[in-house]
Amino acid sequence: MHDRTGDVLDISANSLAGLLDAAHEPILVRDLEGRILFWNQGCEALYGHGREVARGALAPDLLSTVFPAPLDQITARLLAEGRWEGEVTRRLADGREAVIALRWSLRRDVSGGVEVLETGRDVTEARKAEEALRRSEYRFRNVFHAMSVSFWELDFSALAGMFGALRAKGVTSLRAHIAENPRFVRQMMEASQVVDVNDKSLQLFEATREQLLGPVDRFWPPCSEHVFAASVIAALEKKPHYESEARFRTYDGREFDGLFTCCYPREYLPQGATLVGVIDITDRLRAQEDLARVQAELAHAARISTLGELTASIAHEVNQPLSAIVTNGEAGLRWLRRATPDLEEVGRAFDRMIGEANRASGVIGRIRTMAVKGEPEKARLSLGPLVEDSVLLVRRELTTHDVALRVQVPADLPEVEGDRVQLQQVLVNLMVNAAQAMAEAQERVLTIRGSVDEAMVTLSVADTGPGVPPERLVQLFNAFYTTKAGGMGMGLSICKTIVQAHGGEIAVVSAPGEGASFVLKLPRAGVAQEAD
Ligand code: ADP
Repeated sequence: MHDRTGDVLDISANSLAGLLDAAHEPILVRDLEGRILFWNQGCEALYGHGREVARGALAPDLLSTVFPAPLDQITARLLAEGRWEGEVTRRLADGREAVIALRWSLRRDVSGGVEVLETGRDVTEARKAEEALRRSEYRFRNVFHAMSVSFWELDFSALAGMFGALRAKGVTSLRAHIAENPRFVRQMMEASQVVDVNDKSLQLFEATREQLLGPVDRFWPPCSEHVFAASVIAALEKKPHYESEARFRTYDGREFDGLFTCCYPREYLPQGATLVGVIDITDRLRAQEDLARVQAELAHAARISTLGELTASIAHEVNQPLSAIVTNGEAGLRWLRRATPDLEEVGRAFDRMIGEANRASGVIGRIRTMAVKGEPEKARLSLGPLVEDSVLLVRRELTTHDVALRVQVPADLPEVEGDRVQLQQVLVNLMVNAAQAMAEAQERVLTIRGSVDEAMVTLSVADTGPGVPPERLVQLFNAFYTTKAGGMGMGLSICKTIVQAHGGEIAVVSAPGEGASFVLKLPRAGVAQEAD
């Protein structure tokens, strides 16, 4: 045996075998047919077979070896080149499969025959890890390219320098710095680079890959700057991801609505890289707008139909001041036509006439707002006056049905935020339903109560009618559910839509024989904003 310098080492065959046996590496010697001649401790440790089993056995059989190519070809190479290297799969004594990296070399034995010296290395775990990595990389690439979401890989490493400069100037809060220097957001965008995009991005942003690569600011219109700023702050605060709706701009400048998602994988962040997804939600927003418009139209149609039901009430509310005007006019004329006209009394009659006329026009004004179709408006509303206005529309209806009304709404109830006409519509609906439900009842009392509980203001409209059987409770708010001969079954369904659009909820509570109570919960104005 020669070392690298070519000196002959004087090692006897025996002591060589001893050395090889003690080596940790699995070393095997076999003849050309595969019969095992030498099996060291390393082999025992790796394959699990003792040397008494291994010696004399055929290596491919003992180890159920699966070669990467037909064995003849491998052997031919070994004979031609004197060596072979490759990976095989072998079965261990305990039945497990292992991937072994083999090195074979030919050597002549003492009698001139040919032997194969094999060293092996267990690479099972390394191959498994590589495979897992390959799969995960494949999955990632697949998702990156095949999903119908526009994906961007961003390099924002330049931001680190900008933040460093800010810190050096004594800035401790990026949020506060942005509030004072809104331009900084645009500068951050200019410094953030798009380094890769998937095919969907080309389609969504109407550009080629080359056009999309580069500074990201070109795709963010000014109205979305706050979203970009919030996503950077989320990354700095070590949030795992960030999501928001935002406006985007295509390469040619057309704007569209998108859902922007950003994730900050820990292993990416130190390299200043992140993955951003944009989903086009133009259609979704358009559908939402259409739905809102149809709902508003339906609510309006229902209001008109309610007003139709309340014609008698409304006529009464208008007639009363009109008769009062006539009475006062007549009285005024009488004072005027006296031998000595009493102008002071005439003046008083005029004052009363004006007061009544104002009352009538007030009633008409309220009805007009209910009848006119307008965009829902958001305003701060006190529930007391809202209840009063609604009662005015149904007062006559209640009197006709001989219903006693009790209103217990504290004057200091917190305000809610919403559309006056729509909320009034809800109350009118609940009151008309209650009056109709009590038509046959012995005792007819309608109670409206107001209360507050932390973030929600509650209004309940309770009657002493027959109540709602438990099995019908869930159906009540379904569209077209009605038990009335001429009913449409839309009233409560529309009430629910309106209340939910105000961020609230409506439910009915009814114990058998104790009437029904519709409970309306609406968020206090300003509470949601303060909680943010
Ligand atoms: P409609 O009044 O056209 O029937 P609604 O949606 O307003 O439509 O009401 C649906 C159904 O709910 C009514 O037909 C009635 O059976 C039931 N309902 C509503 N309010 C009450 C109430 N206060 N007491 C008992 N049942 C009620």
